[in-house]
Amino acid sequence: MNARKGGAGPTDHKAITIGARTVMVPVHTGTAKTSPFEATGPGLDGSAMLLRDGVLVASIKYPRQARFYALQTFDGIPYWKIAQLHSSDVLATTVLQNCIRYADRATSCQFCAIGQSLAENRTIAHKTPEHLGEVARAAMLLDGVKHVVLTTGTPNVIDRGAAVLCESARGIRAAVDLAIQGQCEPPRDHGWFQKLRDAGIDTLGMHLEAVTPEIRARIMPGKATVPVERYFDAFESAIHVFGWGQVSTYILAGLGDTAAAILETCERLVTSGVYPFVVPFVPVSGTPLANHPPPSPEFMREILPKIGRMVSRAGLRSADIKAGCGKCGACSALASYEA
Ligand code: SF4
Repeated sequence: MNARKGGAGPTDHKAITIGARTVMVPVHTGTAKTSPFEATGPGLDGSAMLLRDGVLVASIKYPRQARFYALQTFDGIPYWKIAQLHSSDVLATTVLQNCIRYADRATSCQFCAIGQSLAENRTIAHKTPEHLGEVARAAMLLDGVKHVVLTTGTPNVIDRGAAVLCESARGIRAAVDLAIQGQCEPPRDHGWFQKLRDAGIDTLGMHLEAVTPEIRARIMPGKATVPVERYFDAFESAIHVFGWGQVSTYILAGLGDTAAAILETCERLVTSGVYPFVVPFVPVSGTPLANHPPPSPEFMREILPKIGRMVSRAGLRSADIKAGCGKCGACSALASYEA
């Protein structure tokens, strides 16, 4: 089995396919160890059995190891250190593995592990446009990758990552025709949105993570200096450039926001044309929130059907998103609740 350990995005997870849907399942976390679910190792065709308390509940499949992982650049960097296969058909990478917010654990996002994989030599600090183009081409040709997620640590408080996303997208677009999602904090100057679009970024994610100001200040003291209202200003400008439903935000359920607060924010987001990608928080080993409990299944069952109805009503469908997490959907069951 190949599982991701540490890093940004769905860390400590393993991709499994149940029926037609591939989901990212946390397997290295403390709570995973007490889960009633257990999976057998894969057979020769990648299939396995999912058991609950020892009783067979489903047949599952493990997506095979990406073929592009076996390659390396001319200067000897393994492709898997440059980008990773997420779910079954998404190429994802953190283009800049450093973040001004991470340097001091007092101001860093308490759930984030961006520095861990770098410290453990499982990635490189900066993926150049040439690296990204080379790996994207291999991932498309060898593994049928359909879209790309580019995220970044925040390098400064001016463009907040938009500039490095532009050069990265250009590198990929010079090599292949794959739809790209960029993810960064709202840049100060909204002129960056057009530059991102012109560089080849199709969809943009600007992630609130938590929605209540006090919770944001506690969980991510640095990032919370960019207030929720500033995100909404940025969403409004970005929608004009990327289009209805092609701007999204991540909300991590389980960090302390109430169901009412999440639902209220989602209502406001969908009214603005922003897809609210609400995912259950998964504690990542080695971070300050490693022992923070994930949300209960009841909490997710309370909010996801309502958000599913909201996005459908607003004409925002996961399937219509050109690229990125909302399209992939492996980290949340939200798309299953869309009409
Ligand atoms: S939803 Fe996003 S972070 Fe999760 S597996 Fe898909 S691309 Fe990766």
